[in-house]
Amino acid sequence: MTQHLGRFLDDLDRDIRASADWGKVADYIPELGGIDPAQFGIAVALADGQLLTAGQAGQPFSIQSVSKVFALACVLGRIGEQLWLRVGREPSGDRFDSILLLEQEKGRPRNPFINAGALVVTDELLTGRSPKQALSEVIGFLRTAAGDDDIHIDKAVAESEAAHGHRNAALAHYLRSFGNLRNPPDHVTGTYFHQCAIEMSCIQLARAGRVIAGLDCAPNLLSRVKQRRINALMMTCGQYDGSGNFAFRVGLPAKSGVGGGLLVIAPGRASIAIWSPGLDGWGNSQAGTLAAEKLAEFTGWSVFG
Ligand code: GLN
Repeated sequence: MTQHLGRFLDDLDRDIRASADWGKVADYIPELGGIDPAQFGIAVALADGQLLTAGQAGQPFSIQSVSKVFALACVLGRIGEQLWLRVGREPSGDRFDSILLLEQEKGRPRNPFINAGALVVTDELLTGRSPKQALSEVIGFLRTAAGDDDIHIDKAVAESEAAHGHRNAALAHYLRSFGNLRNPPDHVTGTYFHQCAIEMSCIQLARAGRVIAGLDCAPNLLSRVKQRRINALMMTCGQYDGSGNFAFRVGLPAKSGVGGGLLVIAPGRASIAIWSPGLDGWGNSQAGTLAAEKLAEFTGWSVFG
């Protein structure tokens, strides 16, 4: 299997590179706007400890919203079920940065992966901690899970987003007006922008994702129940209003980021990180989604059989 998979990944890298349509990079964060969309990397961490890679698997990229999975893991570890008093567990069917439902639903975001929900998670992370401590907690989790201390924040990306992050600022103020943000909105957005600006390679991200896949690399980091719940949320909400399409095509829990990263989980089997910075209309990696679809087809790993 491993040998076949290794060859498949090399073929996949070649096929994806032959693609004519890479999608568009996220230019609302100017620092990300200049990145060449025609890039691709993949890393697959298997249950037996092996790691298979192809393409630019060692190239660091901005993980953006993939960080929401790990921030959620930290907060669930800290306060558990109480989080659900402040954030829902339903797909939103709206864009990742939408404010629409927030008014109708009185400031309780639909789920922890849309921006409004992720801001509430970051607000929880900040309870009793400075922004620096909150960020250290997420980075510490990632480093332990990946078994790699060389994971850092790209400050230029964080500052670039902060200078243009009016929508997230609006969401934070709106949440605060409903009493669902305890810390000052600019503290929360500032911390959130830095969390999103964490840089990792596919190799590091696939290794960190083993804890979400239940591969027992760091068993004390995340309980079985929390791991299962995070996967359920990734399946139903991980690609925002493109989540149904992703489940249909790939059939695996996953989380995307506007840096073009994708963490895909085959529970109990593998943690897969894919990077290709060109995005589709939902803000998810275009070539990355295609690669995940082909990989799921080849391996038969879809949770739907
Ligand atoms: N930092 C980005 C934002 O808040 C993350 C969005 C994403 O990756 N989908 O807009």
